[in-house]
Amino acid sequence: MRQLGGAEAAEAAVEGRETLLTEGVLPKFLRYVRIDTQSDPGGADVPTTAGQWRLSRLLAAECTALGLADVAVDAHGIVTATLPANLPRGRPLPPVIGLLAHLDTSPAVSGRGVRPIVHRAYRGGPLALPAGPVLDPADHPALAEAVGLDIVTSDGSTLLGADDKAGVAAIMAACARLLQGPAVAHGALRIGFTTDEETGRGIEFLDVEAFGASCAYTVDGGALGDVSWENFEAENVTVAIEGRSSHTGTARGRMCNAVALAAALAAAVPADRRPETADGRSGFIHVDAIDGNVESARVVLLLRDFEQAGLRASRAWLDATCAALRAGHPACRVEVRRTGGYRNMRGPVERRPEVVERALQAMRAAGVTPRPSSVRGGTDGARLSERGLPTPNLFAGGMDFHSRTEWVPVQWMEKAAEVLVALARLWAGPEPADPGGPGRSVPEAGQAGGGALGG
Ligand SMILES: [Zn+2]
Repeated sequence: MRQLGGAEAAEAAVEGRETLLTEGVLPKFLRYVRIDTQSDPGGADVPTTAGQWRLSRLLAAECTALGLADVAVDAHGIVTATLPANLPRGRPLPPVIGLLAHLDTSPAVSGRGVRPIVHRAYRGGPLALPAGPVLDPADHPALAEAVGLDIVTSDGSTLLGADDKAGVAAIMAACARLLQGPAVAHGALRIGFTTDEETGRGIEFLDVEAFGASCAYTVDGGALGDVSWENFEAENVTVAIEGRSSHTGTARGRMCNAVALAAALAAAVPADRRPETADGRSGFIHVDAIDGNVESARVVLLLRDFEQAGLRASRAWLDATCAALRAGHPACRVEVRRTGGYRNMRGPVERRPEVVERALQAMRAAGVTPRPSSVRGGTDGARLSERGLPTPNLFAGGMDFHSRTEWVPVQWMEKAAEVLVALARLWAGPEPADPGGPGRSVPEAGQAGGGALGG
């Protein structure tokens, strides 16, 4: 592990073990959100901002103080640690489970100088934040489910950072609970706090092999009960158009205007296949950017669908549209280049049905009704699933991400921690003395699996 130097240790001001074990999820959360970890898409290195290093160091120090093993910070600020198994001798070792959360916050809204406010026993109705924004149930219907709970917001001048420090705090609180004694028998857990999720650049640096888990869960979802094991199939493309310039006074029959072709391409996207007209399980073709001039233009498109076939259809539409542009404008060049993408995690996750089943079962054990949803985007778990580590996403309790009215009920974060404790217990299998124990009630494959996929 990376040793903390004097100055860094002073900066981190690590709580004592007793406090870390017993304080609960809220003090942890409040500590983490006060550190500015906003990531920066323009940053040269990963992590893209120095603030992420501060939280990396603090979390590593807290993991060590708490008594976790193998605490390490890699060259990209990713913190990993092990909660060793505590199973009695003779009991077979269950698979190693990974728990992941990202420690950066969105570049969309400032994360500097976050002043968290705890609104105790929320009574319903609008919450006016000191800096101006109003958290109003008219815009955020989920607030109705949080009446009576303690809601944390920022003061309205910044985001809160529940995305994903609620997940970080829930994982730390679950570790604390599991370390308090032998009450919950569990196998080894691998903990990972990752950087630069919001820029999509951090997760590629997580060494899946060294992480050593057989499956993992990102704790990065929203409302109580939220669970996802499906996300988009994604293909990002750039259409490069080369035109031919000519003096506008004598352009007839000579000029081929790349800007006009770019505009024609954007306008050709069918009205019912755009993100602004799609929801649920329908995919889309999104024109994300256009730039250029007469000689050269570039159109950036995002193709998204939950199904491979749907993505192929979108790509076929794009290829046909570009072919028609070429045919109509032989003097221009139109070239489609794939620039990136990601895969739906559903395939790799459903090949290990027990990964989702245990998550659903852990929620029920914690008194939470699972609410499966499909992520209309990508997740770090999608990238990990593609790399052989099936990684569905569980709720952390935060809502209204990437905004000044981001909020999280304390009790939902506590439930997230409780679900993780239950998950650790369930993966350890039934207690030998208790043949009717939790391990026996795992639902049949498919019962709570693919059929429950919502959207
Ligand atoms: Zn997140």
